Amino acid sequence: MIQIVDKALCTGCHACMNICPRSCIEMKEDEQGFRYPLVNSSDCIDCGLCEQVCHMTKSDNTSKPTAVYGARNKDLEERMNSSSGGIFALMAKWILEQGGSVYGAAFNRDYEVEHIRVTDKADLHKLQTSKYVQSIIGKTYSEVRNDLLQDKYVLFTGTPCQIAGLKGFLRQEYDKLFCQDIMCHGVPSPKLWKKYLAELKAGDIKSISFRDKAQGWADFHVVIRGEKKTVSDVFNKNTYMRAFLSDASLRPSCYNCHYKNLEYAGDFCLGDFWGIEEFCPEINDNKGVSLLLINTSKGKELLDKVRDNIELKDVPTEAARVKNGAAVNGAAMNEKNTALYNNIDNMTVHRIVEKYIRGSFLNRVKNKLKK
Ligand SMILES: Cc1cc2nc3c(=O)[nH]c(=O)nc-3n(C[C@H](O)[C@H](O)[C@H](O)COP(=O)(O)OP(=O)(O)OC[C@H]3O[C@@H](n4cnc5c(N)ncnc54)[C@H](O)[C@@H]3O)c2cc1C
Repeated sequence: MIQIVDKALCTGCHACMNICPRSCIEMKEDEQGFRYPLVNSSDCIDCGLCEQVCHMTKSDNTSKPTAVYGARNKDLEERMNSSSGGIFALMAKWILEQGGSVYGAAFNRDYEVEHIRVTDKADLHKLQTSKYVQSIIGKTYSEVRNDLLQDKYVLFTGTPCQIAGLKGFLRQEYDKLFCQDIMCHGVPSPKLWKKYLAELKAGDIKSISFRDKAQGWADFHVVIRGEKKTVSDVFNKNTYMRAFLSDASLRPSCYNCHYKNLEYAGDFCLGDFWGIEEFCPEINDNKGVSLLLINTSKGKELLDKVRDNIELKDVPTEAARVKNGAAVNGAAMNEKNTALYNNIDNMTVHRIVEKYIRGSFLNRVKNKLKK
């Protein structure tokens, strides 16, 4: 039976919960707001399946890119509604056109983030753009297996650990399954996100975008429209994003990530092409370009299906390393993380960020003077 002794070894992928034949594993939120498996031992029959599917115990589940591209969707509207070059939407549409299903992260009614299954193009927008919160996988791995057993095409998208979790759960290859990792910096806790949203006192939330590009891709804004107020902050000035970008709010396993140094679990990976000016400035219009990493022959197969709708520039693998820290190095555990989660129940997110993440006024002045 699965038992979590070291939280840094559990990514919260839900594979164990999905595989359990007795449905006796619950994914329970801890005090930081991250979910971990909890086995109801009186129902457990000790079949060992939960341990077998755990991807954190396997070492041969990654591949490295065979080709790297700067890529942008030729449809400007679709690209503007995406975080970077809008490549996800193109791949997803092809799958839906084959009668398949697409899985990815969406906001639910309460603006929590969870994985959902989409079978209709009209719903694809729900999966577009990055949500900087750990997405709850729920029962989607089981739904993927049902689709595959019905011989449907499936595109499953998520963080590399979510893809590895799915593969661990499935334990066999399927020709019609395509997997897309996002180049992942790490994931903050759903509890922190909920607390931040509540403390904004914006009233009923009408819409949220972590990646509003109205003022440019490079200076993307976090825009939260509420009944009582609208928040629109450039990403690095937003309180919640400051905790995220300074590696203070990530899940413990993100500080122990197996999917760095361009090691991926999926067939292709998408990120922002930061550093584009060095490699293919001719396609940079500040509306978003994706870094597209093709990791397997299936990744290439899917790219070939949609190639006519993409502006593609072949770039060296080095391009993925130059400015994209998330592709190369994992975050290092730090005091800010401890301070943030030690205080999550007794201080506002704003106050925590001002006190422990932004640094004291004196330190900020000292840093400015040093610079
Ligand atoms: C938590 C997180 C951290 C990221 N960190 C980096 C980074 O450091 N560097 C970098 O280059 N790119 C990073 N990205 C990826 C980047 O922001 C874009 O998602 C990527 O460039 C794809 O963009 P797109 O325009 O093709 O499609 P988009 O429409 O933007 O793609 C949306 C895709 O992201 C998936 N997605 C959205 N939110 C989540 C989530 N919470 N969990 C799992 N999957 C999600 C959707 O399922 C869908 O597949 C990160 C994304 C997330 C969600």
